[in-house]
Amino acid sequence: MQHSITIKSFNPYEARFPNRKVLSASEIDIIKQLRNAGIDVTVLPDDSRPIEYIFRKGNNILDFIYPFILTLWHEAPKEVVLNIINDWFRTRFFTSGQVDQSVKDAATQNLVIVENNHGTIINVNGDIVSPERIGEMISRAQSERDAFRRSLSSVSSYPDMPVPLHRDHRPDVVGWAKISMDNFGLHIDKSIITDPQTLSDIYAKKLKGFSVAGIASKSVCSVCGDDYVLCEHRTGVTYESIECFNTIMKATFVECSVVEEPTLSNCLLELLVNQQEHREG
Ligand SMILES: [Zn+2]
Repeated sequence: MQHSITIKSFNPYEARFPNRKVLSASEIDIIKQLRNAGIDVTVLPDDSRPIEYIFRKGNNILDFIYPFILTLWHEAPKEVVLNIINDWFRTRFFTSGQVDQSVKDAATQNLVIVENNHGTIINVNGDIVSPERIGEMISRAQSERDAFRRSLSSVSSYPDMPVPLHRDHRPDVVGWAKISMDNFGLHIDKSIITDPQTLSDIYAKKLKGFSVAGIASKSVCSVCGDDYVLCEHRTGVTYESIECFNTIMKATFVECSVVEEPTLSNCLLELLVNQQEHREG
């Protein structure tokens, strides 16, 4: 019988964007690695809904702050799975001579492998994890989901800036914005920071701009042209001289955050000008 693994989907934005089968971008990538090694991977719940994934550019740790639970069935060998996952970390997060420790630490906390045949739970280092730890992981993720329910439904006191701004894609509202979409993508037309700490970190250039989080529902692979979620190719890998990247064709905007490594940095200057106007006004 073919070795098989199940992964449970988790949507931190469930309250605001319900009924979606959501994984992180890293989970999609790891699933591809496991499938390429001949392991059958099923995403739970095993229903007809398509798999969608969360993208938040520039911050890899976030992919590992929620429970990432792999369950092994039919005596799928845990050593093989552990090797594949640890190889994945080595190739994805190998910077300045070693694996990015902050990402690895987050993964050690939240990525677990459950051996269904005898109930043993291990982390990425192969250490035994107690069932209570799994319970803690899940309840922490649920509180984060509740916090997003509150932050994404909070109402702005600036009628012209209705969209909440977060910091580092975490569920705390630090400001408000007016956001629009054009042919070039998303643009922050106007924004204000209400959290004093965030504002002082912006002035100190610790926070440099904005980053958007969304749920990708359709993306296409540059190598085969098929649905990126289902094909075997992985972004950043070159296949017979064609580099794989995925183009997101359809996505839902979830939230916008002020971050250290932004994808939208030109908007920050406008923010500071606007901040000044509000102070004077
Ligand atoms: Zn492909």
